[in-house]
Parts: sequence; structure tokens; C-alpha cells
Amino acid sequence: MMAEKSKIALVTGASRGIGAAIAVTLAVDGYDIWLNYRSNHTAAAAVAEKITNLGRECRRLPFDVGDEEAVAETLNPLLEQETPYILINNAGFARDGVMALMSRYDWQSVLRVHLDGFFLVTKLVVARMLRQRSGRIVNVVSTSGQTGVAGQVNYSAAKAGLIGATRSLAAEVARRNILVNAVAPGFIETEMTGDLPLDRILPTIPLGRIGKVQEVADAVAFLCSDKASYITGQILSVNGGIV
Ligand code: NAP
Repeated sequence: MMAEKSKIALVTGASRGIGAAIAVTLAVDGYDIWLNYRSNHTAAAAVAEKITNLGRECRRLPFDVGDEEAVAETLNPLLEQETPYILINNAGFARDGVMALMSRYDWQSVLRVHLDGFFLVTKLVVARMLRQRSGRIVNVVSTSGQTGVAGQVNYSAAKAGLIGATRSLAAEVARRNILVNAVAPGFIETEMTGDLPLDRILPTIPLGRIGKVQEVADAVAFLCSDKASYITGQILSVNGGIV
């Protein structure tokens, strides 16, 4: 017999931007939230308050997803007690620059947060999901990993890598009823995109506008819902028609 579905969702990078919107949306859908972020305690507290105001529990988990020791120290004791039904790998940032001038640090730090972060968090959680024989994992990737973008060799490499990992992990765990997908946002209004030259970007977007965090969160919530029960290994673009 299958164990009853847990009502916990772990969302990484959920103190701001897309991750915060995902955490609140999943709380609206009835999940208690394990809210990861790196260091912005004030922003995380504001998101946690929204979640508790919805009548859901919120556990704040500040750690660097690329730090193996910190990930294990925080998650292992919690995973001994409970297994999240949902894991959203969203934490990340970009360090843009042309390849010829890119420092080794900018290359490595971007791969570390997106790829090592995915690996370290997912490895611990999926081991528990396998035992539960249920779960949903959604990785937040990017148009940049699908098409390539000048000035983002590091970020495109990281996100394309995460797309490959999404497809392989989906194939690996499908028999245990764990569905793994990715959402690929285009240009979304967050702090990460605050400095972009909109006059040059808008003409490239068929819908003629930047996306909202809620539009990404709704796609993620769909992939975590019972309505997406036959979807795995897919990359859902939320980009206003760019690709
Ligand atoms: P954001 O507003 O800058 O928020 C980034 C979040 O990630 C914050 O919660 C931050 O925590 C957290 N974070 C950063 N590094 C971390 C680390 N090492 N460990 C744990 N948490 C970490 O970013 P966003 O625009 O919402 O982007 C979220 C995701 O969507 C990223 O993976 C990004 O690549 C992807 N994406 C964004 C866009 C876009 O247009 N915005 C488009 C495509 C894909 P603190 O607050 O503590 O710093």
C-alpha cells in the first residue's frame, strides 16, 4: 500500500523572487513549507509570515545549497522525521560576462549553485522519496539553458546541465512514482533581472512583456498537482513565446 502523501514542500531560494512566489503558491495549495535561502533573513521572514497567515507551517532553513556540510547538517535531522512530497530546486544567481574575460570564480560559482546545489539537496531528498514511493521534483532552469545567450556561458552551461539532469533523474525514478520536471522561465521581473535593458529585450518577446513571478509559480504548482500525474522528464517553458 502506498504511504499517505506528505504535505511538505521544500523550496530552495525561496526568500525572494520566483522561489518566494512558488513557496506561497504551494502553501495556498495546502503544503507546509521548508523554506531555504542563503542569508536574507528579513526577506525570508516576510515570506514565512505570508505562509503562516495562510494557515500553513513554515520552517526557515538558511543554508548555502552548494555547501555539502551545511546541506547535510540542516536536512538530515529533518528527513529522519519527515519526507517532503515536493522539492523545488530554484536557488540560483547569474554572474554574466563575456567568455574571454570570465574569471574562473564566476564560472565555478554559477555551476556550484545550480548544479552542485541541485545534486546535494536532491540526493538527500530523493533517497527518502524512493522509500515513500512518491514525490515531485521541479527544477527551475532557464531559456538561457535551452537556446544559449551571449554573456551567459557559465549560466547557460549550468542550466543546460540541469535540463539533462532533470531528464535522466526522471527516467531513473519514474518506477517509484516520483515525477521530475523543469520549468524554464524567460525574462521574469525579479531582482535578478532588475538591471536588464528592457528597450532591447521587449521586442524579442512575442507577448511583448516581461513575465511575472506568479506566472512561473503557477506552472510549477501545476507540475506538482494531481493534474500533472502523467508528465515527467519535461521542460515547461514560461517565456512569453521566446523559444
Ligand atoms: P532572486 O530574486 O535573485 O532570488 C534568488 C534566491 O536564491 C534568493 O532566495 C536567494 O537567497 C537564493 N540563493 C541564492 N544563492 C543561494 C545559495 N547558494 N543557497 C541557497 N539559496 C540561494 O532570483 P530569481 O530571479 O527569483 O531566480 C530564481 C531562479 O530562477 C534561479 O535559479 C534563476 O536562475 C532562475 N531564473 C530566473 C529568471 C528571471 O528572469 N528572473 C529567468 C530564468 C530563470 P537570499 O535572499 O538569502 O540571497
